[in-house]
Amino acid sequence: MVRFDRVSKRYSSPGTQGGGKEALSSVNFELQRGEFAFLTGHSGAGKSTLLKLMMLMERPSRGQVIIDGQNLARLRPSQVPFHRRKVGVVFQNHQLLFDRSVFDNVALPLQIAGFTPAEAGRRVRAALDSVGLLGMEKRNPIELSGGEQQRVGIARAVVNKPPLLLADEPTGNLDPELSEEIMKLFTRFQQVGVTVLIATHDIALIERMGHRRLILDQGSMVQGQLQEGVYG
Ligand code: ADP
Ligand code: ADP
Repeated sequence: MVRFDRVSKRYSSPGTQGGGKEALSSVNFELQRGEFAFLTGHSGAGKSTLLKLMMLMERPSRGQVIIDGQNLARLRPSQVPFHRRKVGVVFQNHQLLFDRSVFDNVALPLQIAGFTPAEAGRRVRAALDSVGLLGMEKRNPIELSGGEQQRVGIARAVVNKPPLLLADEPTGNLDPELSEEIMKLFTRFQQVGVTVLIATHDIALIERMGHRRLILDQGSMVQGQLQEGVYG
């Protein structure tokens, strides 16, 4: 489902010729369809950069990113929105709009994709159902608890039924019990075939969950890295 082939990323910063140091250095890894993995590493190790490359929010300086058989470097601009619908993203601060209802927040990615209101309504209810929030459509997210708000963020990420679900510190603001509940939700998506990659600092939680772990250290993948030559 995901393949990074010797991916490096150097952000070009003004004043420095050729940019600063590498945020990612020759990263090689694969995620199979339906796999669940954690991505860890110190602050600044390159976790967000790795996720941004998959969402096409950044482009690699070298190497290839292949998602669902598609080399992202070969996507035409007209195909980029189609790619983004295949990748659901959950953020730490969930980025909900507090001047809109739960329904409208979850429907946002669908409006962009141009669904009819009836089809959008059906999909929003299915997504809310999948995170245990059916019936909350008319509420304002500001009235909800932190854990419920994060569930709304997850519902929005899965409303297009993406085969790949990414999360950047999704439990960063939650207590351990709520964090575990949120992680169980991600596991439920994995069980229906979704590939899940979660960047997190929460080592205790990772150890309890017992999934595969990819580790970045200053831009290098020190656990999970595929060695050169394994690709035919
Ligand atoms: P993490 O998510 O693990 O904290 P990041 O991917 O955010 O790591 O950052 C990796 C490195 O890239 C850091 O040194 C960071 O300062 C740098 N970096 C991240 N984003 C940018 C940017 N937009 N411009 C310049 N440097 C950046
Ligand atoms: P369909 O149109 O394929 O019958 P629905 O939209 O009725 O599907 O949703 C069926 C179920 O799929 C929902 O109840 C929900 O739990 C689950 N689901 C939601 N998001 C995803 C996803 N990203 N991948 C797989 N299943 C999902």
